[in-house]
Amino acid sequence: MPAEPSIFSKIVAGEIPADIVRDTERLIAFRDIAPQAPVHILVVPKSEAYRDVVELAAGDPSLLAEMVAMGHDIAREHCDGQFRLVFNTGEQAGQTVFHVHAHVMGGGLAEGSLASG
Ligand code: AMP
Repeated sequence: MPAEPSIFSKIVAGEIPADIVRDTERLIAFRDIAPQAPVHILVVPKSEAYRDVVELAAGDPSLLAEMVAMGHDIAREHCDGQFRLVFNTGEQAGQTVFHVHAHVMGGGLAEGSLASG
């Protein structure tokens, strides 16, 4: 476990504000503060036990499946059920927060590249 709570743990604890769109027993979802798509929502486990999706898949695959299902629910509500699901994994791949999270992106991305932002 990291010594300092991650920025996402602070959102889970209510210590910093976020535009929350889903809140379940094990997951929270909120709008990205710097959106890279018309719909850009982060799905985050409340536990910060896993730094990235590789650790999560190995340690708790059912929680990863819950994240995918929540991404789909969010996309059904916000962008016709069609979405891009991005897990930046490692600093050189653009990961900046080492508390696993999925970027749910949608809304008019068909012309765009695969870049996540
Ligand atoms: P990554 O670069 O994949 O680690 O994604 C981290 C994401 O968290 C970035 O897209 C940031 O814009 C987003 N982010 C950072 N701080 C906040 C915050 N306080 N509220 C919402 N999104 C945030």
